Amino acid sequence: MISLIIPCYNEEQTLPILYTALCQVAEEMSAHEFEFLFINDGSKDRTLELLKELAGTDSRVAYLSFSRNFGKEAAMYAGFCNVRGDYVAVMDADMQDPPELLKDMFSYLESGAYDSVATRRVSRKGEPPIRSLFARIFYKVINCIADVDVVDGARDFRLMKREMADALAAMGEYNRFSKGMFGWVGYRTYWYPYENVERAAGETKWSFWKLLKYSLDGIVSFSQVPLSLASYSGLFFTFLSFLAICFIVVRKCIYGDPVPGWPSLACIVTFIGGIQLFCMGIMGQYLAKVYMEVKKRPHYIISESNKEDVRKVQ
Ligand code: UDP
Ligand code: MG
Repeated sequence: MISLIIPCYNEEQTLPILYTALCQVAEEMSAHEFEFLFINDGSKDRTLELLKELAGTDSRVAYLSFSRNFGKEAAMYAGFCNVRGDYVAVMDADMQDPPELLKDMFSYLESGAYDSVATRRVSRKGEPPIRSLFARIFYKVINCIADVDVVDGARDFRLMKREMADALAAMGEYNRFSKGMFGWVGYRTYWYPYENVERAAGETKWSFWKLLKYSLDGIVSFSQVPLSLASYSGLFFTFLSFLAICFIVVRKCIYGDPVPGWPSLACIVTFIGGIQLFCMGIMGQYLAKVYMEVKKRPHYIISESNKEDVRKVQ
């Protein structure tokens, strides 16, 4: 059985298109049983009604409906915790992850050489240039300083064996950054390249700022380098000011002139103050993550579902 995890947030326009495509794929791969597991992430439009209608006519359709919007990461986690299939795929509802690739992707798993097939966009056509630029910078930075590889252009669209999905479900961290987690659990992964596809209908839910915040979250979740950056810069400036003090004392002893120029002094004070606040900010970022983790709040709350024995709060 192949389970497809599909997070949906206000996707009433794309769902019918997606469902038709999924049925076609299921027909082409008729040797396998399918489960379409839709996660309604607190949509404010008719997404849930549509899902109920589909579930009423098609027994392959299962849905989990959240009590509010918990975010795509939480939706994927709910999927991993509640799938039944021997193979598990994650895909977007907007047709940007073309369902027709599934057949080809599955052949790599079947060959036995790989445990997971991940997709990678080879182009970013149709995306605003400023977004692409920042995305490229982000991948450079995170690959320099993080403990895991994050492939440029990697999408969350993946097909994997059940054991990998179980490993992802076992990672119960609150601050989830899937692009890093997929790499962290390991397994033999084939990178499947494809051309970028634009959304079939509706609008993206990711604003530039949401993406920027998500990328910073990713760095903090998978790297301790910013923390050591704070202590190294602290060390560097302590050393620098020690040298400066020696210089001033020696100059006073030899030439006896008073220290002139309070403006330069003021500049240095504000500069060092800025560095200190910046470093405290970095520590604050990590502290905030720790705070959220120790609270052990659930990742999601399911208010409605047509599936049996779902983990409603996890
Ligand atoms: N999504 C979600 N919860 C959210 C935002 C998005 O479940 O809070 C889903 C959305 O329905 C879609 C997928 O995540 O299936 C990707 O979202 P979108 O297409 O808006 O992102 P983009 O492709 O622009 O990065
Ligand atoms: Mg999309």
